[in-house]
Amino acid sequence: MIKIKDLLQWIEQCAAVIAANRDYLVELDAAIGDADHGANMDRGFQAVLQKLAQDKPSDCGVLLKTVAMTLISTVGGAAGPLYGTFFLQMATKLTGKAEISAEEWAAALEAAVQGVQQRGKAAVGEKTMLDALVPAVVALREALANDKPFAEALQASAQAAEQGMKATIPLVARKGRASYLGERSAGHQDPGATSAYLLLQAAADLWSGRSDSGRKDANKL
Ligand code: ADP
Ligand code: MG
Repeated sequence: MIKIKDLLQWIEQCAAVIAANRDYLVELDAAIGDADHGANMDRGFQAVLQKLAQDKPSDCGVLLKTVAMTLISTVGGAAGPLYGTFFLQMATKLTGKAEISAEEWAAALEAAVQGVQQRGKAAVGEKTMLDALVPAVVALREALANDKPFAEALQASAQAAEQGMKATIPLVARKGRASYLGERSAGHQDPGATSAYLLLQAAADLWSGRSDSGRKDANKL
């Protein structure tokens, strides 16, 4: 079971890995966008930390809704509303819960990713955060369906996200700012897929008892 304190720890860990990878995400976005993804995400998660320092919810849904609303009002760009939707959909699934089972986590993550798909109207292969998120949900579901322990399922999910992130390198962007570059967007890793991977790896490291989250270069693992 993931308890509310574990969920809070994940959000704090998200803020920490985004801060540690801020410059890296900026670099990735400089190559195919406008070099703000790291700064946007870091600003958003620092605001989330501030918000949670004032008030720590005891309901998983309320906690995630706070995260969503704070990201929506502080991140901006394409990623702000998309990550806002991600956490809002997750919140909707977990309202009224003080702890979450593996199945409930999988359902919440699935709803979150579907929310991003609906909001951004992107599909896998279009070089967006969905290239990390969609395989992560599939791998999580598959591992749980095969009765794998939650820790193992989380690691499988993060690994799938990592592969999806790396698989964005040769892709031509079809959505968002990077799509303006057309063919020239190929050869670069998508910043949003990278931040999405970092968030999922943070959950896997935290909840499967590993402590090496926060590694600096997501492309050098
Ligand atoms: P902006 O592109 O407005 O500067 P960011 O730099 O913060 O916003 O975020 C860029 C990331 O947003 C991209 O790397 C991509 O992963 C993601 N993204 C952009 N458009 C979409 C979309 N329609 N669906 C899903 N993800 C998207
Ligand atoms: Mg940008």
